[in-house]
Amino acid sequence: ETQVRGRVGRDEAMRDAVVDARVTVTAEEGHSVHYVAEQLAPGRDYWYQFYYGEEASPVGRTRTAPARGDDVPLRMAFASCQHLETGHYAAFRDMAEQRPDLIIHLGDYIYEYGPGGADRVRQHQGAETRTLWDYRTRYAQYRLDPHLQSAHAAAPWLMVPDDHEVDNNWAGYTPEDPDRQTDLEFRVRRWAALKAYYEHMPVERPPQLSGLNSELRLYDSYSFGRQLRVLLMDTRQYRDDQVCSQAFPSAPHCEARLDPRLNKLGSAQEQFFQPLLSSSEARWNVLAQQTWFTSFRYPGNEYNMDQWDGYGAQRQRIKEKLAAPEFSNPVVLSGDWHCGAAMNVPRDETDPQSEPIAAELATASISSECPWSAAVARALPENPQLQYWSDNRRGYVLCEFSAERMQADYRLVDSPRDPASAVAVDRRLEVTAGRRGFAS
Ligand code: FE
Ligand code: CA
Repeated sequence: ETQVRGRVGRDEAMRDAVVDARVTVTAEEGHSVHYVAEQLAPGRDYWYQFYYGEEASPVGRTRTAPARGDDVPLRMAFASCQHLETGHYAAFRDMAEQRPDLIIHLGDYIYEYGPGGADRVRQHQGAETRTLWDYRTRYAQYRLDPHLQSAHAAAPWLMVPDDHEVDNNWAGYTPEDPDRQTDLEFRVRRWAALKAYYEHMPVERPPQLSGLNSELRLYDSYSFGRQLRVLLMDTRQYRDDQVCSQAFPSAPHCEARLDPRLNKLGSAQEQFFQPLLSSSEARWNVLAQQTWFTSFRYPGNEYNMDQWDGYGAQRQRIKEKLAAPEFSNPVVLSGDWHCGAAMNVPRDETDPQSEPIAAELATASISSECPWSAAVARALPENPQLQYWSDNRRGYVLCEFSAERMQADYRLVDSPRDPASAVAVDRRLEVTAGRRGFAS
């Protein structure tokens, strides 16, 4: 083991340190530094820097949450899906330039696959990730990207993995292809993936291992004064396996997808959020989670079973909480689908034009492609709840929350193969405080 020095300062030049700490790091934890700075003042910027031997890290900027009761506007950017091979990170460059108060990442931070074809802008090192060594190497490769680094150095992050941090479409202890990975192999793989995630990410709690069960506890509630509360959900670690069929991007409806026992959150997590979904002191209540929440019907009564359409009864239980008149201004965030969209969440799934109970913002991907965009486009006439659709373009969403409204800018990338590409607002959507769904 060895020691790394970390300082937190009130100015970018790091002249005025409020924290000067020595953190013990070990090979066991991949020499990662996790330090929780206590006693910082609420609602202001801080800067931080690490030192080891003669080396000093770049200076990062962070920002503490406003104090309880403080009512100030807040800017939050959120993103997902950054396949390293299919695009550069102009979106992260732009996000860092915007200097939001908060960044939320909804998963697919890495992709587990081996290297793809020569048409890719860059290539994964090593084969499909399975061991701790593989996952560590993959994070190291992603983390070398300068625009990703600049986004981490620009704002505090809240984050949760989706499927590709472990294995495509995994669910609980079920891998993508159970015929090709034994239960034991997948449990070891899941542990390695969660451990490497913890080592490389600004998350507080280490993963826990009990027998062959592993857990990286990430779901939680975060408050930003009176303005905003973020309920960060984890829909991968505790979910039941997808039902009906694995057909992609959609599979025919079957009754099993509406089974009330079917769980996307796990019962412990659903219980954790139960009281939080019943009352809140915040004006805006954001559910930040991975996959599309609003029902989306493909021609022929087909649905995507990896999204909430595959877990309809649990979604209905959550919707009933959100719909309560005393629950103020619910907004659902999602990623996963690579093509961005904004949806009114209809009270009645079978009638997409029924009165909305919430608004959903689904981000476009940072760099991952959306080869199923034609299938989504064909389904659009059946889905009038969609207020916006980015088509097969890259980007992220920048939100501003205030007493009067939430404003969401879909900031899209011109040329994903160019790290210097321009990024501009494709569409601005608004939700008026006290109203459900998007203002037209
Ligand atoms: Fe993805
Ligand atoms: Ca995904």
